[in-house]
Amino acid sequence: MFLKQKIISGQVILGILLLLLSASSEGKVVINVKSLEPTNTSAIIIKTTVAVKDTLLLPAKKDTSDKGQAGNDSLTITEITASAGKYDRANRLHYAMIDSMAKVIMEFPLRDSAGLRYAPDWVGTSNMGLRRPNYVIIHHTATNNCNNVIQEFTTPGVREASAHYLICNDGTVYHMLNDLLRSHHAGDSKWGNTTDLNSSSIGIELDNNGYQPFSEEQMASLTILLGRLKNTYKIPDANFIGHGDIAPARKMDPNYRFPWKELSEKGFGLWWDDTTDVRVPDNFDYLMGLRIIGYDISAPDSAVAAFKRHFMKDNSGGNMNGMVRKIIYMLYRRYQ
Ligand SMILES: [Zn+2]
Repeated sequence: MFLKQKIISGQVILGILLLLLSASSEGKVVINVKSLEPTNTSAIIIKTTVAVKDTLLLPAKKDTSDKGQAGNDSLTITEITASAGKYDRANRLHYAMIDSMAKVIMEFPLRDSAGLRYAPDWVGTSNMGLRRPNYVIIHHTATNNCNNVIQEFTTPGVREASAHYLICNDGTVYHMLNDLLRSHHAGDSKWGNTTDLNSSSIGIELDNNGYQPFSEEQMASLTILLGRLKNTYKIPDANFIGHGDIAPARKMDPNYRFPWKELSEKGFGLWWDDTTDVRVPDNFDYLMGLRIIGYDISAPDSAVAAFKRHFMKDNSGGNMNGMVRKIIYMLYRRYQ
């Protein structure tokens, strides 16, 4: 583990920058950044090289070194840059939001108007940690380039949409939001009995026009990222799903070309096996099967269409047949 920190600035930098690196006995790395305020009068370039084993707390550029590709939990962040360039305004807004959220977290004792009979003395516990994501939701951007998405995700007051990660067609990764914060990527959604997926998931947007195949470079970056997320947050195999799965009546992403089967072989998502000797019981209710897997079945045709898109690469909509029923049955047994 090592840290090289270099600050290059032509002028006086407003704010105090403190990078504090500490390591726990388990080898976890935490970097605290206090008061980082990029200005438009001077470039602030922070080049930091950190060997990171078990943290995703930093904005990271894709690492192209061999070491970075070595394993899911050994991706090395080779450069972190906060520059007063074309994203200066967006980054200022980002930090302003973080500041406002920090104030909420720091408010003690908590006050509310529920009329509870609070004890006269406030007492805080130190036995705590940050809440962790437990799902990964994959999206496609439905646009033709990453810049349009960056523009949209950094513009307040319109759709207010965002994602934790954006992966461009060429494999470049933008880490736009700390994994531990709530991104607006899932919208009105449901999986099982979980209705606020934004609060419990990481959102990953893939640059894709909605119809095209996903590029090799993009999938290579995605696979590394999914490995990091799974390892860091202990996300179960079954909890790697698509936006179309959790909002079947509204969304169709990622498109039917997305390689769910290949990813399931790496532990990201579930899949089904050889169907040859499988007999589906006559009384099997395929909608209940979909419900147990996680689908919202309030619009049954949409749920079937979403299932077929994800698990059969079939974009033909909600019509049923024996094969669909059999595959629902096989997966339902894996989710039980
Ligand atoms: Zn989406």
